[in-house]
Amino acid sequence: MLPFVDMTEMGHEQVVFCHNKKTGLKAIIAIHDTTLGPALGGCRLYDYKSADDALRDVLRLSRGMTYKAAISGLDLGGGKSVILGNPGMKSEAFFRSFGRQIESLGGRYITAEDMNTTVSDMNHIRKETAHVTGIGARFGGSGNPSPVTAWGVFNGIRATLEIAFGSPSVEGRTIAIQGLGNVGRHLARYISERGGNLIYSDINGENVKKAIAEFGGTAVDSADYYSTKCDVLAPCAIGGIINKQTIPTIQAPIIAGGANNVLDDEVADGERVAERGIIFAPDYVINAGGLMSVYAELKQWPHETAMENAGEIFSTTKMIIEKARSESITSIMAANQLAQDRIEAVAQIKRLHVGG
Ligand code: NAD
Repeated sequence: MLPFVDMTEMGHEQVVFCHNKKTGLKAIIAIHDTTLGPALGGCRLYDYKSADDALRDVLRLSRGMTYKAAISGLDLGGGKSVILGNPGMKSEAFFRSFGRQIESLGGRYITAEDMNTTVSDMNHIRKETAHVTGIGARFGGSGNPSPVTAWGVFNGIRATLEIAFGSPSVEGRTIAIQGLGNVGRHLARYISERGGNLIYSDINGENVKKAIAEFGGTAVDSADYYSTKCDVLAPCAIGGIINKQTIPTIQAPIIAGGANNVLDDEVADGERVAERGIIFAPDYVINAGGLMSVYAELKQWPHETAMENAGEIFSTTKMIIEKARSESITSIMAANQLAQDRIEAVAQIKRLHVGG
C-alpha cells in the first residue's frame, strides 16, 4: 500500500507514523479533514496482520469520523489513530509516549478510547497532552459515552418508525436487538421504559438472560436473528452483518442500530436494502451520541446537553431518509452528501480573512 496514493484518493490531510524504541510503541495517526475543527477520533489498539492493514484501517476510520462529526453538526474534523500491538504491551510509559506524539500535533488531533483502549489508558495519555477526551470522571471527564450513544440510537429508531408507521412511538412495537453490551443494554432500557417489546440475540447467553430479567422480552438464536418477525432490527454488536447473505432473509421493514459499519459493502448492500424497500438508518448518523458525549466533555457542557444533542438525531435521521426517498438514492449516500455539503459550505465561509 502506498500511503500517498491512498491519502490522495481518500482526501487525507496528514498521516503520522509514530515510534518509540523504549516502549515499543508503533502507531499511525490519520487526520482526514479539519475544515470544521480539530480531528477527533478514538485510538484503537489492535494486532494487525501487517502495517498495510493498520494503515488501511486508520485511513478508513478517520474519514468516517469526518462524516460523523459533519452530519452531527459538531465543529470537529475527522481523525483516528491505531496502535499496532496487543493489550499485553500496555504500560504507563507506552501510553505517555503516545501522548507526546499527540502533543506534537499541537491540537490538530484529539484522541479518545476505542477498541482495546480504556479510560485508564486515556488517563496516562492525559499526563502528556490535553488533547485527549473520554477521560475518567475523577479528572472531570464524561466517563462512558454509551448511555448517550444508545439515546441517539433510540431517537434514530423513533424517526424510522415515524416514517414507516406515521408515529414515532415505540409502544407496542417490537425491536430486535443484536448485542447487549454497553449500547444494546441501554437501548433495551429506553425501549422497555416506553412500552416497546424486545427480542434479543447475543453470543454471550448471560447477557441475554440478564436483559430478559431486567427489561422483559424474549431471546432468538443468532442464526435466526435476521429473519425475526419484528418492526426494527437494531444491530448493536459488530459490523458487516447486513450483507448479500442476510439481506434476502430480513423480514423487518426497518434496520436501525448502533453497530459501526453495519453494511458489509456501503454501496452494494445499501442498494440491496433499498431495493427490498427496507428503511435503513445510517449507523454513523444514529450512533453519533458517543461523539456528542466526548464533544460535550471538551466543551465542558453538562451531560444533559449531550443527551439533548443526541435527541436531535431524530430530526437528522428523518431528514436523511426523506432526502434519500425524494432523490432516489440510498440513505447512506444521502447522509454522505449532507456531510460533504456542510464541510464545503463551512470551507467557503472560511475564505474571508478576519483580522491579524
Ligand atoms: P460491547 O463490546 O460492550 O458489546 C457488544 C455485545 O455484542 C456483547 O454483548 C457481545 O457479546 C455481543 N456480540 C458480539 N458479537 C456478536 C454476534 N456476532 N452476535 C450477537 N452478539 C454479539 O460494545 P458496545 O460498546 O456496546 O458497542 C457495540 C457497537 O456499537 C460496536 O459496533 C461499536 O463500534 C458501536 N458503537 C459504540 C459506541 C459506544 O458508545 N459504546 C459508540 C458508537 C458506536
